[in-house]
Amino acid sequence: MVQVRGLWKSFGPNAVLRGVDLDVPAGSVTVVLGPSGSGKSTLLRAINHLEKVDRGFVAIDGELIGYRRAGDRLHELKEREVLRQRTNIGFVFQNFNLFPHLTVLENIVEAPVSALRRPKAEARARALELLERVGLAEKADAYPRQLSGGQQQRVAIARALALEPKVLLFDEPTSALDPELVGEVLDVVKDLARAGTTMIVVTHEIGFAREVADTVVFMDGGVVVEQGPPQAVLDEPRHERTRAFLAKVL
Ligand code: ATP
Ligand code: MG
Repeated sequence: MVQVRGLWKSFGPNAVLRGVDLDVPAGSVTVVLGPSGSGKSTLLRAINHLEKVDRGFVAIDGELIGYRRAGDRLHELKEREVLRQRTNIGFVFQNFNLFPHLTVLENIVEAPVSALRRPKAEARARALELLERVGLAEKADAYPRQLSGGQQQRVAIARALALEPKVLLFDEPTSALDPELVGEVLDVVKDLARAGTTMIVVTHEIGFAREVADTVVFMDGGVVVEQGPPQAVLDEPRHERTRAFLAKVL
C-alpha cells in the first residue's frame, strides 16, 4: 500500500503541496481530480521522488521512498537506491515518453534488462506477453513514430508494467490524445484495475472515475479538499470547491 503523510512542497514562494495525506490500499484505484495548478502532478512526482519535498514522507509497503530512517532522523538515499525504489513505482506520462530510436519491444525490454538485470530472452518473452495484454502484439517491431497516440500510450503502459511495480501512477494519460483514441487507453487501465493493480490516476475523465475508482480525491490549492467513494465525491460533494470544479468539467 501507498502511504503519503503530511507532504509539503514549495517552489520559491509558491506552496504547491500544503500537507497532503493519502492512503492507497493494495489492489485499489485512486483517481485524483483537481483544477490546473492544484498540485496533482507535483504529488505524483513526489511519490516516486522525482520531486523532493520539504516536509512529510511517502512509504510503499512500509518502505520510505528516498530516505532511510536513522533514529528520529531521515537520511537521503543515494541515487542508485532511489532508482531501485523507482522500479516499484511505474509512471505513465501524458506524452508517452517512449524512446524514439528503440522499437516497441526494445522500449519495454530496456528497463528490466538494465535496471533489474533480467536475462534478455526472459525480458523479451515477458514484453511480448505485455504487448498481447495491451492489444499490440503485432507492433513489437514498429517504432513509436509509426504508432498512433493511443497505441504509443498503450506501449508506455506495457513498459511501466514490465518492471512489475507495486503501484502504477498515471498523470493525465489520455489528455494528449485525440478523443477517439481515449477509450482504447482507458480500456487498458480498466483491465488493469480488474486484475487488482494498485493505481493512482490523475485524470479529468469523470466517467472513468465513476466506473473504476475505489476512491476519488479532489485536490485544490495543494490540499485534499475531499475524498471518498466516487458516488459520494462526484454525486454528493460536500465542499463548494468540489461542486464548482465538477460543474465545470461535467
Ligand atoms: P495541471 O492540471 O495543469 O497539470 P497540476 O495540478 O498537475 O496542474 P502541478 O503541475 O503540480 O499542477 O503544479 C502546481 C503548481 O506548481 C503550479 O503553480 C506550477 O506552476 C508549480 N510548479 C510545478 N513544477 C514547478 C517547478 N519545477 N518549478 C516551479 N514551479 C513549479
Ligand atoms: Mg499536472
